[in-house]
Amino acid sequence: MARAFVTGITGQDGSYLAEALLDRGWEVHGLAASPPASPPASPPAGMPSASASAQATVHVGDLTDTPFLAGVLEDVRPDVVVNLAGISSVAASWADPVRCAEVTGLAAVTLLELTWQLQQRHGIPVRWLQASSAEIFGQPNLAAGEAITERTPIAPVNPYGAAKAFAHLATGVYRARGMQASTVILFNHESPRRPHAFVTRKITATVAAIVAGRADKLVLGNRDARRDWGWAPDYVEAMVRAIEHDRADDFVVATGVAHSVGDFVAAAFAGAGIRDWEGLVETDPALVRPADPGVLVGDASKARAELGWTPTVGFEELVARMVAHDLGHLGHLITAD
Ligand code: GDP
Repeated sequence: MARAFVTGITGQDGSYLAEALLDRGWEVHGLAASPPASPPASPPAGMPSASASAQATVHVGDLTDTPFLAGVLEDVRPDVVVNLAGISSVAASWADPVRCAEVTGLAAVTLLELTWQLQQRHGIPVRWLQASSAEIFGQPNLAAGEAITERTPIAPVNPYGAAKAFAHLATGVYRARGMQASTVILFNHESPRRPHAFVTRKITATVAAIVAGRADKLVLGNRDARRDWGWAPDYVEAMVRAIEHDRADDFVVATGVAHSVGDFVAAAFAGAGIRDWEGLVETDPALVRPADPGVLVGDASKARAELGWTPTVGFEELVARMVAHDLGHLGHLITAD
């Protein structure tokens, strides 16, 4: 049995990853900023759950506390370290760029160095997987119909992208140094576990609240932005494959299809059975970001060829699942025809 150490284990990706690894018989340890409210997470709709006896061990502490991290790594002695933790939202990175640099950038490199030292000290290989992001590419100058690949120049346009780029490039440095260090370059990936700070969950939760009579409008920023939205458990499957793959590399993980925020709004209202919704949506200029990539769409050909990975949930189904979850949360049955 292999042993994994996963930072950000209580987040959307961390909880799905813990379940996926436990299901495969791994021993899973994780880092969380605060104790989980319940065992790592409840099983998502359509996902197998870990048996009650097989749970992750959660270590509670701060990612920027280097002595603490060093101690946990020495105690756990993982075969693989997966770094998912950080300020995960672009919006939050604009609010506190310095904290984002510390947590998403510097702490990732600190953990990379601690992992390298652990490997050197014990003479046992330790794999590394960094959750990288489409945001490292900023607003790439691509021809019409062209998608981002692993070779697209790294040129972030927001504090989150810059911090992620630092961790991404450092992973390449350690790979060149001899570490089995990979990145998965994740495009936007969503689920009912997505926090409300992200536009998809904000939309589905608000649409559900409108159905329940608890909200009367949906207020958004830039509705023209186009994103390549995938199903988070699919992206976690790509992580597992990258961990198990013997050749370390960078892998774009994306669906290859972009939709606008406006498309997502329309699909969410349709999923909730609301037809005349245009008047329910407003724009607040305060929610429009200082710089926002107009379109982010990825080409996952390499992951498909080398990891045998392919997304299983398309846009319409993704929106429908999130809306159904949020309606169910409010105790409403979907009556749409
Ligand atoms: P990101 O792509 O990682 O920043 O994920 P988000 O879900 O936060 O944002 C996706 C897109 O939705 C970006 O282009 C945002 O500018 C846009 N957007 C429009 N309105 C909103 C909003 O009210 N909240 C958020 N979070 N994003 C919004």
